[in-house]
Amino acid sequence: MKCGKCETYTMKTECCGQKTAKAGPAKYSPHDQYARYRRAAKSDQLREEGLI
Ligand SMILES: [Zn+2]
Repeated sequence: MKCGKCETYTMKTECCGQKTAKAGPAKYSPHDQYARYRRAAKSDQLREEGLI
């Protein structure tokens, strides 16, 4: 679940006085953060190679 107001992920059904929305299972996971890290690393590599 995710609060659309404070954008906090929670297991509660309510946050900030309003109902939370269902969050996709892949949106808040270590795998997603790892993918983001890999993307950043690749970006750095391309910059070093002068491709960006
Ligand atoms: Zn909230």
